[in-house]
Amino acid sequence: MDPRVALEQHFGFPAFRPGQEEAVQAALDDRDVLVVMPTGAGKSLCYQLPGLMRRDLSIVVSPLVSLMQDQVDALSRISPDVALINAQAGAEANREVLERARLGQLRLLYVAPERFSAPAFLNGIAGVDVGLFVVDEAHCVSQWGHDFRPDYFRLADAARWLGAKAILASTATATPQVARDIVERLRLDDPVRVTTGFDRPNLTFAVVPCRTAADKHARVAATLADPAARPAIVYAGTRAGTETLAGKLARDLDCEVVAYHAGLPRDTRADAQRRFMGGDVDVVVATNAFGMGVDKANVRTVCHESVPGSLEAYYQEAGRAGRDGAPARAVLFAESRDKGLHVFFIQRSQVDDALLMRVAERLRARAKDGRYDLGIDELIAQGCEEEQVRSIVGHLARAGVIQPAPSSPDRLRGRVLERFDGRARAACRAS
Ligand code: ADP
Ligand code: MG
Repeated sequence: MDPRVALEQHFGFPAFRPGQEEAVQAALDDRDVLVVMPTGAGKSLCYQLPGLMRRDLSIVVSPLVSLMQDQVDALSRISPDVALINAQAGAEANREVLERARLGQLRLLYVAPERFSAPAFLNGIAGVDVGLFVVDEAHCVSQWGHDFRPDYFRLADAARWLGAKAILASTATATPQVARDIVERLRLDDPVRVTTGFDRPNLTFAVVPCRTAADKHARVAATLADPAARPAIVYAGTRAGTETLAGKLARDLDCEVVAYHAGLPRDTRADAQRRFMGGDVDVVVATNAFGMGVDKANVRTVCHESVPGSLEAYYQEAGRAGRDGAPARAVLFAESRDKGLHVFFIQRSQVDDALLMRVAERLRARAKDGRYDLGIDELIAQGCEEEQVRSIVGHLARAGVIQPAPSSPDRLRGRVLERFDGRARAACRAS
C-alpha cells in the first residue's frame, strides 16, 4: 500500500511532514534508519506507520514508561494490535501480551529497555518474527547525550538476537558526536539519515545581563508579571535554588508556583508535574530534571535563571516553549559568575591520568576468563569521589573496555566485556 494512503487511513492526516515519508519508506524497505528531528516534529509516526503497515512485529524501546503509555493509549484508538510490556504491569498481563506476539496478533510492542535483561521476557519473545527494532530517544545510548542510560547499551545485541530486520533510531539531539555514537553503538548498517531543520521560527531568544542574584530574581519576576507570559518554566541551576526562587516568584506574582527537582519525594514531584501539565499551576521552577516527557503545548516563556551546562541542553530546555506554534519567548538571565560554576563542575569531573592508570592496572591484575569486575566499591573506599568514579566508568566505556551493568546504573558497577588489551591504557592517555 502507498504510505500516503496508509497515513490517511490509520492517522487521518492529509500529508506527511518533512522527512517522515522518507523514513517510513526506508523502514518498510528493511533499511536501518536514523531520524534526527526536533521535538514535536513527528518522529513517532516515522516508526508507528511502518509498524502498523508491516506484517511482522515491530518492537519500540523508549526510556520512560509514561512516554510509551501515552503512545500506546493514542494508538489504541486506531489499532487493537498495539501493546506495552513493563515491570509495573503484572506478570500475568505481560505473559498475555507475549502470547499475542507469538500468535502474530500484534503489530507494535512497546518495551522498556531493562526488559532485555529479564529472562522471562527474552524466553517469551524468542522466535517471534520481528521486523523493525525501534530505539526512541536514541541519544540515551551516548554518554555525550544528556540522558545517558546504561540499559541502552544492550539494545544492539537485543535487536540482533531477536533477528530484527532493521533498526530505526530516533532522537532530537542533533550533535554529530551523539549521532556517531548512536550509529556505532546500535551498529546501524549504512543507515538512511533523515534530518529536518532545527529552526523554531515562533521562538524569540533574549539574554538579560544581571549583576546579582537578587537582581536576577527581580528580572525573572518582571518577565513573568504579564499573565500572557505564562504558562512558564523557569530553570534554576541548583535544587535549593528552585525552592528559593519558587517562593519568591509566588510572592511577587501573587500566584501559585511549584518547585521541581530530583531531590523531592517522588509523589511531590509527580504532583507538581501533573498540576503544571494540567494547567492548575502556571509557573514551575525546576532543575534540568524537569525534562524528557514534559510536552506541554502552550508554554509561553522558558526562563533560565542560570546558564545551562551545554548549548545542547539549552536548545532542549528553551525548546519547551511554544510547542503549539504560537509566539513564545526564551530568556536567559546571565551573571558573570555563572561561568565560574561551570568551570568548577568541569574541573571536578576531570580525572587525573594517574588515577585512571591505577584503575587500569587493577583491572589487568584481575584478569580471569576475559571478564572483570570493576571494583567500584573499592574505588569509593579508596577515597575516589563519585564524580571521579563516574568519569572513570565513562572513559573505559567509551574506549569499549567495559560495559556498565544495566541492572544497577546508579551503583556504577561495571563489567569488562573483552580481554583487557591495552585499550584502557589508551583511554587513560587520551583523557
Ligand atoms: P516527536 O516525537 O518528534 O517529539 P511526536 O511524534 O510526538 O513528536 O509528534 C508530535 C505531534 O505531531 C503529535 O501530536 C502527532 O500526532 C503530530 N503529527 C505527527 N505527524 C503528523 C502529520 N503528518 N500530520 C499532522 N500531525 C502530525
Ligand atoms: Mg518523541
